Amino acid sequence: MSPALLPEAVVMVVSGPGGVGKGTIVERLLDSEPRLWLSRSWTTRERRPGESADAYHFVTREEFERHAAAGGFLEWVEFLDYLQGSPLPEPPVGHDVLFEIDVHGAARVLEQYPDALLVFVDAPSRSVQAERLRGRGDSEERVAQRLAKADEEVARAAALPFVHVVNDDLDDAVGEVRELLAGARSRARA
Ligand code: ADP
Repeated sequence: MSPALLPEAVVMVVSGPGGVGKGTIVERLLDSEPRLWLSRSWTTRERRPGESADAYHFVTREEFERHAAAGGFLEWVEFLDYLQGSPLPEPPVGHDVLFEIDVHGAARVLEQYPDALLVFVDAPSRSVQAERLRGRGDSEERVAQRLAKADEEVARAAALPFVHVVNDDLDDAVGEVRELLAGARSRARA
């Protein structure tokens, strides 16, 4: 059974390659949409230099495993050296839920919430993505890794009903995502 949410609550997922501007768009959206609640992912990895303390819920492997055993995650994955996952969402009443997660996680959310709105954000080109990654201070090694993973994410996303948004002009991209959310809200409340 899907983790309980009120039937009129919208579940929205934002996915996309690293550095295309997902976090920036999500932040803008949260600032302007007081009834949107961000589901913070849990991770057992260390906080990276420059990463904000609330980017994730940072926990020990023991805490994570205990929560997983108690059925507390909607989805989780094991990477080479850490675990990461989305807890069952518990938004305040009257709020819609937003996940900023990868395509694998989006697929799991869709299994649980078949009406979820899936948004795939991409940059206008890989070279623009690379510039943005460098601009935010990612090392050349990370830039190369993220670019290599980008086409994989795009290919995986093709199997799911994602709406694609190209983040060229930020205001336009935020406006498009806001409109998609408004559409999902009016469908859910109909
Ligand atoms: P992601 O969350 O997808 O990894 P970020 O939100 O961290 O990406 O954005 C990567 C970098 O690109 C940041 O420095 C951000 O300020 C910048 N950025 C985001 N959107 C745009 C845009 N439309 N135009 C120019 N720069 C952008």
